[in-house]
Amino acid sequence: MAVTVVGSIAFDTVKTPFGERDRMLGGAAVHFALAASFFDEVRIVGPVGDDFGEAQLSVLRRHNIDTSGIQHVDGGKTFFWRGTYGWDLNTRETLETRLGVFEGFEPKLSQDARESEVVFLANIQPDIQRRVRAQCVETRFAALDTMNLWIDTARESLVKAINEVDCLIVNDAELRQLASKPSLVGAAREVLSWSKSDGRAVVAKLGEYGAALITRDGYFSIPAFPLETVIDPTGAGDCFAGGFVGYIAAQSGKPLTPTLLRRAMAYGAAIASFNVEEFGTERVARLRMDEIDERVVDLRRMTAFN
Ligand code: AMP
Repeated sequence: MAVTVVGSIAFDTVKTPFGERDRMLGGAAVHFALAASFFDEVRIVGPVGDDFGEAQLSVLRRHNIDTSGIQHVDGGKTFFWRGTYGWDLNTRETLETRLGVFEGFEPKLSQDARESEVVFLANIQPDIQRRVRAQCVETRFAALDTMNLWIDTARESLVKAINEVDCLIVNDAELRQLASKPSLVGAAREVLSWSKSDGRAVVAKLGEYGAALITRDGYFSIPAFPLETVIDPTGAGDCFAGGFVGYIAAQSGKPLTPTLLRRAMAYGAAIASFNVEEFGTERVARLRMDEIDERVVDLRRMTAFN
């Protein structure tokens, strides 16, 4: 099954205690697409400006990502984000966000992009997420990410968007804020109760503590792969989502059993762990599938007990 991802394609300027990089290739859709490309065909949709060129496109094309859905806006500037991290790499400060071509973005999905059986709505305005979801009529599995900005400013639309997908993938703090509940499990079950459809799932991303998968009657958690050195956590959440959703897409319509979802969580955690070892997309861009598999085996060993 192919995966369509709609979201930010960006230039990121990032400073961490270990160094800084100016205008690296980034964006939620880019991090997701690179991670998901290890499992299945990926179609990326999002706007870019005149400053986005062959150097950036080739990173995606090397991973066989279909870039025909990247909408070039003449005279426009690509979305730009600048952030900084202190010693606690779980919290970051956003210093600058320039929407550029993202302002007034109206996604136009090609026939191929509409027909993907799996769709990931990366963190964008929920009305746009809903319009994309409505275009994808063949979708068998849809997942969505969001952020505090949309919980604060577009809550009603966001709740509708969440109820139109099979899986919500969010940071733990945002999940608590969304449900107005302090407990992670309580907040996830609250979100699940908003829709009558069974079989939905919430994935709470916990930064360096891993991620938790909560369904109506199930719970699973996977730690982050233990690393001694973390350089830049930007995009780790989107890489996790790319590994998780990409793994599900590659299972060609098999039922989403708890076992399959748990394995997908392990692949998400494994890819995210590589992402944080270097700046931006640097590490994932030259990652190999056998390296991912090796970390999944290690994760299984580290978490198994009788
Ligand atoms: P993550 O670290 O997984 O939460 O995602 C980081 C990526 O999100 C960066 O590459 C940014 O370019 C992108 N990003 C930051 N702010 C926004 C925003 N307001 N809307 C969409 N994408 C964003």
